[in-house]
Amino acid sequence: ASNRHEVSLNDVILQSLERFSAELKQKKMAIDFSPNQDFTVISDRHLVSIVIENLVSNACKYSHEGERIAIKLSKETDAIVCEISDNGIGIPKEDLEKIYEQFYRSQATTHLSIKGTGLGLSIVKRLCDLLGIGITIESERESGTAVSILFPNKNQ
Ligand code: ATP
Ligand code: MG
Repeated sequence: ASNRHEVSLNDVILQSLERFSAELKQKKMAIDFSPNQDFTVISDRHLVSIVIENLVSNACKYSHEGERIAIKLSKETDAIVCEISDNGIGIPKEDLEKIYEQFYRSQATTHLSIKGTGLGLSIVKRLCDLLGIGITIESERESGTAVSILFPNKNQ
């Protein structure tokens, strides 16, 4: 069961960046996050943190050294959207439909040095379904990936 309250997405994002600061620094990643206002949703703070942390983890892990991760918050007519994008290795089109499966790892044999269990996105998807959050992933191989999570207004 989830525990819903007002959650500042700005705070959750800053906390996730803090949590990954060692990895981000080690990989010399530049972070682009400068929201122009506070974005608040009604949701479960802890579970939303798990979602954002997994997405930040992936953005860092599947980027090349010194690249940039952009995190954008925006308000749409009937939703608040958070987009996390990178310029990393990307995901081949044919793999996109399998990306939420437990233990599925795309390009695992072409990028042997990048480690993972293939569970992050399966957990993210389950939590999004539980919390009524929409998720879309756009990606292009060798160009980058953008993940958007959408909090419908009825949840605000
Ligand atoms: P874990 O998160 O459990 O440590 P993981 O990162 O391999 O392991 P997921 O987070 O579930 O697993 O992601 C599944 C697969 O999707 C990854 O193995 C990777 O191939 C691909 N993927 C996910 N995010 C990105 C991204 N931002 N850029 C490129 N590929 C990605
Ligand atoms: Mg992951």
